[in-house]
Amino acid sequence: MKFGGTSVGSVESILNVKRITEACDEPVVIVVSALGGVTDKLIHTSKLALEGNPRYIDAYNEMVNRHHQLIDAIIPDTDQQIQLLKVVDALLDDLKSIYQGVYLIHDLSEKTSNAIVSYGERISSNIVATLIKGAVWHNSLNFIKTEKKQQKNMLVADKTYELVRKEFKNFGKEEKVALVPGFISTDIATGEVTNLGRGGSDYTASIIAAALDANALEIWTDVDGFMTADPRVINSAYTIDKLSYVEAMELCNFGAKVVYPPTIYPVCIKNIPIYIKNTFHPEAAGTIIQEESGDSSRAIKGISSINDTSLITVSGLSMVGVIGVNQRIFTALAVEGISVFMVSQASSENSTSIGVRNEDAEKACEVLNNEFQKEIDMGAMYKMNLEKNLATVAVVGENMKHTPGIAGKLFGTLGRNGISVIACAQGASETNISFVVESRFLRKSLNVIHDSFFLSEYQVLNLFICGVAWEPWVAV
Ligand code: ASP
Ligand code: MG
Repeated sequence: MKFGGTSVGSVESILNVKRITEACDEPVVIVVSALGGVTDKLIHTSKLALEGNPRYIDAYNEMVNRHHQLIDAIIPDTDQQIQLLKVVDALLDDLKSIYQGVYLIHDLSEKTSNAIVSYGERISSNIVATLIKGAVWHNSLNFIKTEKKQQKNMLVADKTYELVRKEFKNFGKEEKVALVPGFISTDIATGEVTNLGRGGSDYTASIIAAALDANALEIWTDVDGFMTADPRVINSAYTIDKLSYVEAMELCNFGAKVVYPPTIYPVCIKNIPIYIKNTFHPEAAGTIIQEESGDSSRAIKGISSINDTSLITVSGLSMVGVIGVNQRIFTALAVEGISVFMVSQASSENSTSIGVRNEDAEKACEVLNNEFQKEIDMGAMYKMNLEKNLATVAVVGENMKHTPGIAGKLFGTLGRNGISVIACAQGASETNISFVVESRFLRKSLNVIHDSFFLSEYQVLNLFICGVAWEPWVAV
């Protein structure tokens, strides 16, 4: 069971965590995030210290107070509180010394930054371990191992699994409740503190579930589960009760922030189901993620989107029939650490469009212009064409496979609503159709697609009568 930042962020929510976990009759490993907002605050404070701003001390003190107040409110027993404060205050003192170092030396290396952000989970996990009856605290720094690859800290799976099994050899026998800090890890070669990336506590839980062959992985968060679309945009969006691993991966990789994308794989290959549950609404069914997609009547399970995307088009008549152009595009971008999330190439081969985030766009263009400098100078290829401020939408569902008419319905809906599709891509897996539109059409695109694919005739009729449906006849 993994509990995120909001689940351990307030007195009310953390007491829910206690209730939920103590009601569990099976042995359980509990993974927790830092208190909600603390990771951001740790980063913000280190920036103040780096700038030589003495107010970093105030920001640090606010964090100290926040943890102290929470402890005061939830651990009434004096002996327990004294014990806990010993541990927590020692951690907070170390943190203060590190900040002082950053402030004095005006230097914040990646190593120091990683050490700083680790304190959120190190502290929160000790608090929750004291709160929950019978919980035994385990230090993830000893068994979650990473290595540096392409400037990123990547999990070393086999070593980590071996260490997890060793660490938890008594678990399930005498020990029924284990408590683990999420997110944090150490480098396999140097032993330095690293982490699994922002949102990484989900991944910690998934790794442990897979290593121990758990019956289930539960991700406890502050929403009821995956939704059919972003509820901030679509009022009628609702919780999806079942998703396949593939669908969940497609959705969380792209916009829906319910789970950290690397989380799916470790449990997927072990066929361990994932349950998304709401700490603030535990009786809600949530979303189950497993092998089967379920509900075959629905071709599309969810729509996700990201704004702030750009499209770079590499084109030129010299590309036709030439082998290796795409290899050069992707290698050049990979070397610079630029991630491509969408590709579209027409069968004429004279242009390839790639989707990147706005923040990577200028750099990606520069890299590609350099890579193809010779061809551009000779006139065999054009300079890169960059279109910024676009939005990319993905419609996802395994039942789209072999169902005719989905793409027709999708693009027909967009067309009738005056939305021009700038680029699109559908892999042969047929589980995802992605398309790019101007940012200003994102909201409308999501609305018309959601109405078209998710609402019942009755709901559409109602919306129509109220005058809010974009295109009521499409769903009928
Ligand atoms: N505390 C970390 C973060 O905010 C990890 C997590 O919450 O999953 O990114
Ligand atoms: Mg999260």
